[in-house]
Amino acid sequence: MGNAVSFRELHDPVIRLVEEYPGSMGTHTAWLAPLMGVASANNPLFLKRDQMPGAALYPPEECLPGARSVLVFFIPFQHRVALSNIPGPMSSREWALAYVETNRLIVAVGEWLGSFLEKKGYTSVVLPPTHDFDPETLTSRWSHRHAAVIAGLGRLGIHNMLITERGCCGRLGSLITRAPVDPTPARTREACLFRYDGSCVRCLDRCPVGALTWDGFDRFRCYTKCLENDRYHSDLGTTDVCGKCLTAVPCSFTDPVAARSRRQANPA
Ligand code: SF4
Ligand code: SF4
Repeated sequence: MGNAVSFRELHDPVIRLVEEYPGSMGTHTAWLAPLMGVASANNPLFLKRDQMPGAALYPPEECLPGARSVLVFFIPFQHRVALSNIPGPMSSREWALAYVETNRLIVAVGEWLGSFLEKKGYTSVVLPPTHDFDPETLTSRWSHRHAAVIAGLGRLGIHNMLITERGCCGRLGSLITRAPVDPTPARTREACLFRYDGSCVRCLDRCPVGALTWDGFDRFRCYTKCLENDRYHSDLGTTDVCGKCLTAVPCSFTDPVAARSRRQANPA
């Protein structure tokens, strides 16, 4: 068995990669510093699907025998991308383009991590950023969001998306590896204001098609809207996104529960 790989030797180069990517690849989109979390592949939550509603996770061991760790990273968009997506019922061109460009960036980050770990002697499997779902049920075989919760990167909001300390406007990637990496601490406190104390339902009001309601999330209605955006931005590639429920909401750029606690502890 090899030596443990430290979190910093994985996270620091990923921060640099994301920072340099717009310059090296000529993207329109730019990103904020990525966050990273690590879960033990043996974390029992990967087996307790009933405790992760909506999760389609399989045990990492099923994907990679001998798996030791799951690395999850969140790449936040620069705020201008999210702000562009506030007006109107269709996703903004900037938001749609950010989706396309971030999917490529997620692949690049995953490949870098996989190759770095390979050089250390550890096999890894990089999970695809998107479109790994069953077209009948619209559920993914692997949920980056739920893996992110297990890795302590954040908590899910009632819009079904991950809320990190940098909010929810960004995208996730993950990788299963045989490398031993110390797990990052789990977050026990909710990040969604509704789940914390019932004080927000803004994302329900933001949905242009009523896919988010008190009865839950209608993934078919949501995906119909995403396909409408895909046709609307057909010159950009596959852009089946929407994101209206992520923009102009308290959790867009921060964990609003933590932000409120900070304000209460340090009133201006
Ligand atoms: S908008 Fe409000 S209710 Fe919706 S996920 Fe964010 S914090 Fe929770
Ligand atoms: S992504 Fe769009 S359609 Fe789907 S729930 Fe959010 S606002 Fe509604």
